[in-house]
Amino acid sequence: MTEEKQCSCIKNPFANLPPGMRPKQRKKSSLHKVTCPGCSREYWTNRITDVCFDCEKKGVSAPEKTNTKRTKG
Ligand SMILES: [Zn+2]
Repeated sequence: MTEEKQCSCIKNPFANLPPGMRPKQRKKSSLHKVTCPGCSREYWTNRITDVCFDCEKKGVSAPEKTNTKRTKG
């Protein structure tokens, strides 16, 4: 039985660190420009809904979109 030691460069150098300390590998920025259906305000958001915070407080809900939600993958 041969036991080969792997070079440390192959291993994940952050494996020993707690999850919170590890650098984020994928930066998820889905910032996009939307128009609020409630007040027609154009703004940038990374949220799924187009409704701005103000209208959300008022209870405005986004209209149903025709495009289907893409599955994660
Ligand atoms: Zn609004």
